[in-house]
Amino acid sequence: MKKAWSILPDEWKPILKERGMRAFRADQILQALYRDYITDWDQATTLPKDFREQLKTEFPITKTKTLEVSKSSDGTQKLLIGLEDGESVETVLIPATGRFTQCISTQVGCGMGCAFCASGARGVVRSLTADEIVAEYMAGRALGEITNLVVMGMGEPFANYDETMRALKLINAGRGPNLGARHITLSTCGVVPGFAKLAAEGIQFELSVSLHAPNDALRNELMPVNKRWPIDELLAACAAYTKATKRIITFEYTVIKGVNDSRECAEELARQVKRVPMAKVNLIPLSPVSHRPDFKTPDERTMLMFLDVLMKNHVQTMLRRSRGKDADAACGQLRLRRLTKSIPPPIQIT
Ligand code: SAH
Repeated sequence: MKKAWSILPDEWKPILKERGMRAFRADQILQALYRDYITDWDQATTLPKDFREQLKTEFPITKTKTLEVSKSSDGTQKLLIGLEDGESVETVLIPATGRFTQCISTQVGCGMGCAFCASGARGVVRSLTADEIVAEYMAGRALGEITNLVVMGMGEPFANYDETMRALKLINAGRGPNLGARHITLSTCGVVPGFAKLAAEGIQFELSVSLHAPNDALRNELMPVNKRWPIDELLAACAAYTKATKRIITFEYTVIKGVNDSRECAEELARQVKRVPMAKVNLIPLSPVSHRPDFKTPDERTMLMFLDVLMKNHVQTMLRRSRGKDADAACGQLRLRRLTKSIPPPIQIT
């Protein structure tokens, strides 16, 4: 049994042929799945009833349930999506002028253990399958047309490479939802083998790398992944990626008060990112997380000083605002809050 949302558009014809089904049915299936956006085969009324029954048993459509919706005053909506086995993942919808960005998860929890991140606070439960990742997208697009997709939710996409890539290829497929590759951004904490694999795909997805520290001593403390793949190895993989693909890499740098926010850190960061051709930096103020009350958000002046140092060193830098602060929008916070029973859950709309 294969899930309907895990099958790439081009794979339907051979699958149907193998089963002695007529090839034109593939077009009807794609029409139903990705033009009519059915969530149950019974809604595919152009297909004969017995064929629908066969699809139900052989290629079921993944069932999910929106368990919670947490709305922020800035329009950001965070959904907690219940999966068939009772686990749950978060997806966030972020409206902006001319854009409707969705942030999706690739794992239940996360095994990377970054100190400042709520997703990793309880470790990884399991990786999502491609159809579950597509199901998140489907839940998001039901609230509006998605213009941009960022893989910056719970989990490490390069630790679940194959299923993540299958889901993104499906969402990108012309005869699927048809979201442009340049509108899809993957973010990794630095799982080095993923870079060469992604470069070899030859697809123009955008790539972000969570750096957060300019040297190994500090990065080892904040991001355990650095002990496996230290900064030199990571930056070499990034440079090879930009060289092979001619595509930029954006380094994410979450600024934490008194931890990685000094002028020296900014100067060292500038030196490091300049080792990678076509690199950009996004500066993000830390979103406070309940499991690390000692990590604080830097003030505006520190953010501007950091920005200034990078710009003076000719590093292309953007200052990012946190969105959805009152919707627990930092990765993993909504799920963590639900797991931590002592904290009351946010508004419930099912
Ligand atoms: N595992 C991937 C994608 C998920 S995290 C990665 O590490 O890139 C998406 C981004 O949010 C990462 O840059 C991550 O470091 C950042 N992030 C996590 N917790 C945060 C917090 N409390 N405040 C600000 N950014 C945070």
